[in-house]
Amino acid sequence: MAMFLIVGGAGYIGSHMVKHLASHGHDVVVLDDLSSGHRKSVVAGKFIQGDLGDQDLIEEIFSTSKIDCVMHFAAFSLVGESVELPLNYYHNNTAKTTSLLMAMARHGVDKFILSSTAAVYGEPENLPILETEPTEPTNPYGRSKIFIEEILEDCDTAHGLKHISLRYFNAAGASKEGEIGEDHSPETHLIPLVLQVALGQREYIEIYGTDWDTPDGTCIRDYIHVMDLAEAHILAAQRLMEGGESGVYNLGCQSGYSVREIISIVREITGKPIPAVESDRRPGDPARLVASSEKIKSELGWNPRYDDPERIIATAWRWHSANPRGYSDV
Ligand code: UDP
Repeated sequence: MAMFLIVGGAGYIGSHMVKHLASHGHDVVVLDDLSSGHRKSVVAGKFIQGDLGDQDLIEEIFSTSKIDCVMHFAAFSLVGESVELPLNYYHNNTAKTTSLLMAMARHGVDKFILSSTAAVYGEPENLPILETEPTEPTNPYGRSKIFIEEILEDCDTAHGLKHISLRYFNAAGASKEGEIGEDHSPETHLIPLVLQVALGQREYIEIYGTDWDTPDGTCIRDYIHVMDLAEAHILAAQRLMEGGESGVYNLGCQSGYSVREIISIVREITGKPIPAVESDRRPGDPARLVASSEKIKSELGWNPRYDDPERIIATAWRWHSANPRGYSDV
């Protein structure tokens, strides 16, 4: 069993990670400033409220807990917002992560798992996207993450920091027990927004662009269940604990679904009509992002349990319909 520091452990993906680590018997310390996370979503471990950029606090955490591995989920992750407020992204996602890495180096903590993103690929030439595809982000969010991936490589060379960067495609769904789920404020992600329409909290879903170069004119994404994502982190951490090398892996299901397809799946699952309104493209969006996940399957033995959007969305619907106001209902 190991001791993990989960930075951003009160967020959507981080909270599922904490639950999954605890269910495997690991010790967890959670650091989260609760700027967007929820205290109620942290169902295990020791919780510390604070900012990743607070050097004294980070110092204290590494001095008092014998951390084996750090997983870092505390990032801003909205493509559109990153285009409008790039410096916030470089400060929060890149600069603050660098100070975390400095503290790790000071305390000899040498295992790190980064929540990276498909946004590092920009508009990829080839689908499904292999990890060897050029990284040419089309927005500051993607750039803020590729900078950190490169910094991690330098840290490995300079002082042996073993790291795995997991390039997430579109995380969705909720834990099957239904006690934690997705609750952003404001919500910007497609699946929870469509579910809010199903709940009658919004009149319609906006489709951002219908003139993309895709079969139905709407953007294509690869949706992955949040618990499959959490499982990949455990496999990555095990690899590092066994003395494995640093690496970069895509995390997606290798199948793409358009915005219109997602909306019609939600109509089927919820039985609600879900009005949709066609609107302009959102700045910074690429047309298609579909992962090749062969590398993580063959090298780490990852095997997603939820491999179609119907099953993923069903778990999200269970959470949203039981908690229509998110964690205010918990
Ligand atoms: N999208 C949309 N309407 C919305 C929210 C999102 O059409 O109200 C589209 C968005 O342009 C993208 C896809 O849905 O093509 C997934 O967007 P999301 O924000 O969920 O994730 P992202 O791909 O940006 O990480």
